[in-house]
Amino acid sequence: MKVRVRDQDTELGDKFASRHGQKGVIGMLFPKYDMLYTEEGLVPDAIINPHAIPSRMTVGQLLELITGKAGALEARYVDGTPFFKEDIEPLKVVLLKNGYAPDGTEVMYDGRTGRLFEKPIAIGLVFYQRLYHMVADKMHARATGKVQLLTRQPTEGKARQGGLRFGEMERDCLVGHGATMLLRDRMLDGSDAFTMYVCTLCGHIAWYNAKKGVYECPVHGENGDIRPVKVPYAFKLLLQEIMSMGIKPKIEVVDKTALVSRVSPLSLSKLSAAANESDNGKGGSGNGSEDRR
Ligand SMILES: [Zn+2]
Repeated sequence: MKVRVRDQDTELGDKFASRHGQKGVIGMLFPKYDMLYTEEGLVPDAIINPHAIPSRMTVGQLLELITGKAGALEARYVDGTPFFKEDIEPLKVVLLKNGYAPDGTEVMYDGRTGRLFEKPIAIGLVFYQRLYHMVADKMHARATGKVQLLTRQPTEGKARQGGLRFGEMERDCLVGHGATMLLRDRMLDGSDAFTMYVCTLCGHIAWYNAKKGVYECPVHGENGDIRPVKVPYAFKLLLQEIMSMGIKPKIEVVDKTALVSRVSPLSLSKLSAAANESDNGKGGSGNGSEDRR
């Protein structure tokens, strides 16, 4: 004897589909007493958004709804496919004979208020299947973990304890908000941060001399000015791939304090000039004309 037990109860977010490719997930669960009901007190198992019908042109589903209803009323099998045998007209007559509208609609009441809905609602029998994708299996999170061998970036996918992709659009959001520290955390520290040694004189990546226990520049040898630089490992890989094609990438290393002293006088004057201009320009013509000046 074989016993099959349902191990996962249906829940919010589980995926279902009719036989017409109308797939979707459960967006809300109602207690039965809050559901809408027909004159006979019939409560539907599921409600679908009618916007799913016109764009996808799944007329077969509407046909199934009517034929299913007629078939249930007459207690007989009906061919629900739109291609063969069954003519829709006699089925409409069946509905009419049993006191229903021929298009499958019925007057319905709101389960919460008991009020009649303004428009009749299409209700009938349509076969639905649960699809394999269930929210319970989808939950996934990661702090740190496995990385790819080549790029040293986090692996992809739940099965490999993968990271959640922080893509271009997400990056643009942080850039737009000016959240630079978070940006660096996501794109570098939380991903494939790597300390690369660079010679500031020639911009070459230094290598490690294990005998002497020092980093050496391929051009300047021990005389190079070698500094550690924190970069994504994927960036180092890119540089090496470029080098493998016979192109020499050059890394310009600038001291942060030197950078400030070098740039700030000019940028400061520019900033103050821009500030003055915006003060004067209030109530005047828009930004476009200011740009042209
Ligand atoms: Zn060098």
